[in-house]
Amino acid sequence: MVNNSEADWFHIDIMDGVFVPNISFGFPVLASIHHYAKKPLDIHLMIVHPERYLSQFKAYGAAVITVHYEACTHLHSTIQSIKELGCKAGVAINPHTPVSLLSEVIEELDLVLIMSVNPGFGGQKFIENSYKKIRELSTMASERNPNLIIEVDGGVNHTNALALLKAGANVLVAGNAIFASETPMKTIAELKRISPQTFRT
Ligand code: ZN
Repeated sequence: MVNNSEADWFHIDIMDGVFVPNISFGFPVLASIHHYAKKPLDIHLMIVHPERYLSQFKAYGAAVITVHYEACTHLHSTIQSIKELGCKAGVAINPHTPVSLLSEVIEELDLVLIMSVNPGFGGQKFIENSYKKIRELSTMASERNPNLIIEVDGGVNHTNALALLKAGANVLVAGNAIFASETPMKTIAELKRISPQTFRT
C-alpha cells in the first residue's frame, strides 16, 4: 500500500525497550521491509548507543539515519559516522529537549526531528508546544543551515498538518493517522495535498 501511495519515505521506528519503554523490531524485520520497500527508508533510532549499529542500518537500506540527542554522548562524532556511510544524518529531540541544544551541530545536520509526543508508542496526543520548537528551529536553520530538513513525528494528522508546515516543518511523519484509516492511500493523498502555499491568504 505504501509503495503504491503518494508517501515519500518509509519512516521506521526502532525502539530498544531501554531508551524508550517499548520494543518495536530489529534487523530481521528491517531486512523484510528493505526487501519490499520501493521508497527511501528513514530510520529513527530510539535506542541507546546507536553508534554501535550505524553500518548495519546502512546495510539494511537506510537513506536517513536519525539518532536521539538524549542518547548520544558524542553526538558530533556519531553525526560524522552517519555521513561517512553516505546516509543523511538526523538528530531527534524529545519534547523536553530545547532546540537551542542543537546550536553547536546545526551546520552538520541534514535533518532535525522534533518529537511531538513522548517517544515509545503510537497513537499519542500531539504536544502543542511543538509549534514553538519548530518555529525556533526554522529561524536557526534559515540563518545557519537553509537546507535543513525539519521533520515532525508524533500525533500528526489532517487537523494539524497545515499548521506544522506553516510553522516551518517540511517532512511530516504520520503513523496512526494512516494505518488507523479505513482508506489509508486516500488519507496519504489528502495529507500530501496540504501545502502552506495552497492555503496562503
Ligand atoms: Zn519516528
